[in-house]
Amino acid sequence: MSYPGMKDLKLKESVIFERSREGRRGYSLPEEDLKGAENILPAELRRTDLDLPELSEVDVVRHYTRLSTYNYSLDHGFYPLGSCTMKYNPKINEKLVRNPQFTELHPETPAPYAQGTLKIMFEMQRMLAEIGGFAACTLNPSAGAHGEYTGIGIIRSYFDKIGDKKRKKIIIPDSAHGTNPASCALNGFEVVVLQSDEHGKVNLETLKSLLTDEVAGIMLTNPNTLGVFESDILAITKMVHDAGGLVYGDGANMNALLGVARPGDMGIDVLHYNLHKTFSTPHGGGGPGAGPVGVCEKLVEFLPNPFVVLKDGLYTFNDSDNSMGRVRSFYGNMGVTLKAFIYILEYGKEHLGETAKNAVLNANYIKACLRDYYHLKYKSDTLHEVVFDDSEMPNHITTMDIAKALIDRGYHPPTVYFPLIVHGALMIEPTESESKETLDEFIEAMIDIAETAKTNPENILNAPLNTAVSRPDETLAARKPVLKWQRGE
Ligand SMILES: *Cc1c(COP(=O)(O)O)cnc(C)c1O
Repeated sequence: MSYPGMKDLKLKESVIFERSREGRRGYSLPEEDLKGAENILPAELRRTDLDLPELSEVDVVRHYTRLSTYNYSLDHGFYPLGSCTMKYNPKINEKLVRNPQFTELHPETPAPYAQGTLKIMFEMQRMLAEIGGFAACTLNPSAGAHGEYTGIGIIRSYFDKIGDKKRKKIIIPDSAHGTNPASCALNGFEVVVLQSDEHGKVNLETLKSLLTDEVAGIMLTNPNTLGVFESDILAITKMVHDAGGLVYGDGANMNALLGVARPGDMGIDVLHYNLHKTFSTPHGGGGPGAGPVGVCEKLVEFLPNPFVVLKDGLYTFNDSDNSMGRVRSFYGNMGVTLKAFIYILEYGKEHLGETAKNAVLNANYIKACLRDYYHLKYKSDTLHEVVFDDSEMPNHITTMDIAKALIDRGYHPPTVYFPLIVHGALMIEPTESESKETLDEFIEAMIDIAETAKTNPENILNAPLNTAVSRPDETLAARKPVLKWQRGE
């Protein structure tokens, strides 16, 4: 069977040095222009040999064009990576942010000459605060994890200021993203793990047993990484507040709530957004991203410096004396912020909620179509993503095999083996930007894998069969990585 994303991945491309032929040229400068060039640098600083490959222009263009097709991207096909919200990124946004009036603005430009950009930052602070139900929002952090670090730092600054030195612990459910405990540890907090109940949620009795006067707060993802909405959220935030703690919200899953419900209204005191996920910015491979942090009224004074304010008709930077400090150079990742700003304006207040509704609809469509083929550990209702597992696969087929078989069928695999509370997890998040036809094709590929697992397990166990490299030795690849081509090998 042939699937839309399929391509000939078996094609082998030698490195450009192997394609080199002595004397071959793509371009040469007129002799006249080179006259005197040898006198620009002193002789001892000049190279005599650069060892660059020698090729014609057409060879270079074809080589890199072919290599570019080896990448899998959103522009290539469906990318159901759970928790990462790989939604389509409108091309018009890319065009707009490349406007030199943004790209060529020096970070040290005095405020009166940067009013347009500062106004956008100011408006973005307000819009994100409004979307999340917060009093204010900082654009400083460069990623979700950096937002967590900043938000937990704000909580630390708060307890420092009120002089409560006992509160050194933060509760985190066992379904949380790995960055959550790391952000607490980096801020000097000790992590207390809360075991999820049989519905994959926070149990109120369990929470009660963990709440002591040493607890600074809870770090909660809602909907959590199973896609399950913590329906007791109002009771949870009240219990934590009554015990003197604060509630941190991991907003990476805002795609399930965007424009429909506000974390601030649920009693969450501080939350990071992942602009690169929820607000449509190309991401993956480590960046770039942005992790703005929204806070409730009593935490505003602790936000990192600087902050954009409107003073006497002028947009300018301002510092707060009680700030947790600075968390990066200048102010935020402007390119990412700008794309998210445009994205919000494109939808407008009336339509922003359609993203979340369609994201939830798409995920539930996949869930309904695949639940007879793949096991669901938690039967609870889910929002924008669904987590299957490999526990009922025949012939010892594992999640890793299913992921590899999807590559053969032209798809980027979903998130695998996360969240940790589901053994052999397959976490699928389709996002709102996919059509029903795309979802149907993906579902067909997933069903084909489930059926082939029974009738021809070798096809799955040996996948991928259509790629140049099939299954590298993962231990060897980690222990003795070969990252560089060696001449003559
Ligand atoms: C992606 C994610 C993070 C971390 O965000 P980065 O931008 O990758 O640093 C944190 N929590 C959850 C639930 C996430 O999905």
